[in-house]
This record gives sequence, structure tokens and C-alpha cells, in this order.
Amino acid sequence: MTLLDGKKVSEEILLKLASQVSAMQVDHIMPKLAVILVGNDPASLSYIRKKQEACAKTGIAWEQFDFDTTVTTDELIAKIEELNADEKVHGILVQLPLPKHIFTPNIIRAINPKKDVDGFTAYNLGKMFLSTDFEDLASCTPLGVIRLLEYYDIKVEGAEVVVVGHSNIVGKPLAAMLLNRNATVTVCHIFTKNLAEHTKRADILCVAVGKSNLITEDMVKPGAIVIDIGVSRLPNGKLSGDVDFANVSKKAGYITPVPGGVGPMTVACLMENTVKAAKKLNNYKN
Ligand code: NAP
Repeated sequence: MTLLDGKKVSEEILLKLASQVSAMQVDHIMPKLAVILVGNDPASLSYIRKKQEACAKTGIAWEQFDFDTTVTTDELIAKIEELNADEKVHGILVQLPLPKHIFTPNIIRAINPKKDVDGFTAYNLGKMFLSTDFEDLASCTPLGVIRLLEYYDIKVEGAEVVVVGHSNIVGKPLAAMLLNRNATVTVCHIFTKNLAEHTKRADILCVAVGKSNLITEDMVKPGAIVIDIGVSRLPNGKLSGDVDFANVSKKAGYITPVPGGVGPMTVACLMENTVKAAKKLNNYKN
């Protein structure tokens, strides 16, 4: 079994980005990410910290705007519009989830797609469905999975891939990106009748649900590539993926750990998107 080491791969991506950012700075382009945080949810704070650390490593400027949970949709949209108009800002990230009184799709819709480094706007999601050539600002987690597969030279074309979870930010865009690369893709979700029947067929199994130990050893084909995207916190405070790692790792050919798999890849791809957005917004060709 080979461990798909997202921590190591992400560090390599960050190093390459740091040298690109240095070159851009010589040409007076300072890539900058603006981050909107509402409230102080501990998980959100922890994600924000990791993104800020990655910005520091790559040289991307970071500016954070904190709002109380009483903020209104209009106030958030006004801030986004201000950032859309700010030429010094190349990426806008609204840390999700938002409080229940805020209608998240309206917030996402307010972001200029050229600065949508999370790849959540309908424009960027829709474009991604066309082909790999149109994956300009692809959703960071699916992009992170693709980068991990590429790094380990795992062939996607012709592979039987099963994606468990069909959310708009992970499962659906991941399925589209795999289809763009000519995999045979099956997407499973809560209404799937016999999950194991599908997962057992998978050469590559990607799981993005958020339920600890959903995928057990009997649900995995011997030698399969298992990508565990899920993250949940166990009662003992430890983080867990969706896959029973201890047992599945004995059967899989490749597997991601949680933490240290897709999580750091997601953050690295956010940095990749921010650098890409800064280049495009400045017509920077290098
Ligand atoms: P989500 O919106 O809650 O989506 C979960 C998906 O799993 C839904 O499509 C849901 O179907 C499906 N599902 C729920 N129970 C299931 C079951 N028993 N069998 C099969 N499918 C089931 O969550 P998300 O935003 O996609 O995130 C999924 C997980 O990935 C979470 O644990 C999240 O923390 C993690 N995540 C990790 C990263 C990272 O960087 N590592 C990034 C993003 C998300 P229905 O919609 O039909 O209920």
C-alpha cells in the first residue's frame, strides 16, 4: 500500500508557487487574497489559520475581514462588491458555513468570477463542465484530488471511479473533472440503494460525506485507490475521515490519510487559484 501524502505534495506545490509569486513581485504584481469570516466557529478558524499559513509560505498577501454573526446579507454583499472593485485584490474567499439567516447562494453570486478562487460561483462551476481547458478556477478540493492523482501518476482515463457524495463544492465538481479526464464515473449519495455494490467496483474510490467509518474494508476492491475527503470530529476530539483507514489500508493499493491527505491539497490549490487569478487579472504571461 502506498500512502498518498497530501502534506508532502502540497508543500512542493507551495514551494513552486512561492517562486512564481517572487517573480510576479519583481514585476510589481502582488497576489492578494481577501478573506471574509463571519463569527468564530472553531472549525472555520482552524481552516482560516491553515490558509493564512499557506499565504505566508507562498508570499501571497492576506487581508481578513471579520464580521459578527449578526451581519446582514446586504452588508456582506457590500463588502464583496468593494473587494470586487479593488484592483489590489485578486482572490475573494468567504469562509463557509455562514449563519442560517444568510442565504449563501446570494453571497457566492456576488463574487466576481475572476476573483472566485474557491471556484464556487455558477460561472466557474458551469465552465468546468465543458472540458479541462475551461477549468480556470476549479473548486479547490476536487482540484486537490486531481493534483494528488497526477503527482502519483495514477491513470484516470478509462478507470472505474466511484464518487460518494454529491455536494456542489466537492462531489459534483469532482465527478465533472474526472469525466473531463475520461474516467467512467458513478456518483453515489444518500439515496443510493446499495452503496457497497458500487464502491466494490471502483478502481478509484473518492469519498466526501463526513461520516466516520462509512467505508469499511468489505466495500473496497483489492488494490483500489482510496481518496478520503471526509472530515469529522470524533467524541475524543480526533479528526476522522469517512474511510476505516486501519482496515481499508491493508486492502487498498493507495490511500490518503486524514489528516494529511486531501486537506492540505485543498489549501495548496486555493493558493494555486489565487496566483492564477492574479496572473489573469494582470494579463501576466510568465
Ligand atoms: P455535504 O454538502 O454535507 O455533502 C455530503 C454528501 O454525502 C451529500 O451528497 C450527501 O447526500 C452524501 N451522503 C450523506 N450520507 C451518506 C451516506 N450514508 N451514503 C452516501 N452518501 C451520503 O458535505 P461536503 O461539503 O461535500 O463535504 C463532505 C465531507 O468532506 C465533509 O466531511 C467535509 O468536512 C469534507 N471536506 C473536506 C475538505 C478537505 O479539504 N479535506 C474540503 C471540503 C469538504 P445528500 O445530499 O443526498 O444528503
